[in-house]
Amino acid sequence: MIIMEKVKPELLEILVCPVDKAGLKEIEGGNKLECGVCGRRYPVREGIPVMLQDEAELPEKKGNGK
Ligand SMILES: [Zn+2]
Repeated sequence: MIIMEKVKPELLEILVCPVDKAGLKEIEGGNKLECGVCGRRYPVREGIPVMLQDEAELPEKKGNGK
């Protein structure tokens, strides 16, 4: 059974986007971290954020979302 681990809040506080040094927020139930500035989404694997530009998903279009 796979247990989804979440990023620790204290870790989330110090993490920033490597591109623009902006803060990140959890999305998709903590499965990914989204940059508030460039919109890149970094995957979280077993509670460990993968802060690599190569791994990040780029936002495909603007104005998408709620
Ligand atoms: Zn960013």
